[in-house]
Amino acid sequence: MIEHCCADMAREADLRCEAHPDAFACPDTLIRFEPKFLEYGLVVHDGGSASREIRFCPWCGAALPPSRRDRWFEALEARGIDPWEDDVPPEFEDGRWLREEAAARTTAGEGAPGAR
Ligand SMILES: [Zn+2]
Ligand SMILES: [Zn+2]
Repeated sequence: MIEHCCADMAREADLRCEAHPDAFACPDTLIRFEPKFLEYGLVVHDGGSASREIRFCPWCGAALPPSRRDRWFEALEARGIDPWEDDVPPEFEDGRWLREEAAARTTAGEGAPGAR
């Protein structure tokens, strides 16, 4: 599980509605959270699956983590995986690969920012 900035964001980002398995079809869904990219977006309720990326939490004002979309593609490429052609490993379907990335960086001796 990814920790969100505040309880409000945690509730909205992880909202699962019984009536609408497709989050974009649910009028109650405000936030689209993509764990594998660490991306937060505001759902655009136009009948499609559009969202606008947001950089700050609408509830507590915290700066949200930067998108890892580019890193996701780079990390797959480093493993020789083409996300459009090949099967994407399960740890890349959610936030788990980010933890491995962080661990790999730490052991590489680069020093993770914010490390205590
Ligand atoms: Zn709903
Ligand atoms: Zn927040």
